[in-house]
Amino acid sequence: MTAGRDLVSPELRMRVFALDGFRCVAPQLGAEDACAGKWGERAVIIADMMDLSVLTLDHVRDVLKIGAAILKRGSSRRHRYRAPSDEGHLVTLCWHHHLDGWATGHRPRLREYLDSHRVSTPSGDLSTI
Ligand SMILES: [Zn+2]
Repeated sequence: MTAGRDLVSPELRMRVFALDGFRCVAPQLGAEDACAGKWGERAVIIADMMDLSVLTLDHVRDVLKIGAAILKRGSSRRHRYRAPSDEGHLVTLCWHHHLDGWATGHRPRLREYLDSHRVSTPSGDLSTI
């Protein structure tokens, strides 16, 4: 996590975790290997409140539409080519599925997941795209 760039507040982080049921979404999107945390085989699929260190948040950009740059209004303007930090663009993944390559190879699946599980964001932007 790069300090000062990703403005994911602790509250937002917990909200996204809650939306995803405090579990990594990779298994339900077809990942066949077990979830795991930073320290390997201490696999926790459903983390308890004491072990949220296993879970990470991945930024998922909106679907790339050729020729249609995604312009967000207002304060998130600087995220034009990057996913904004909101519930519509953040997904819960365990350390392993986030950082060991699964997420990178399954961005379309993650996007689909977000599109079907996050009806709209508080700002309403997502539903108008
Ligand atoms: Zn996982």
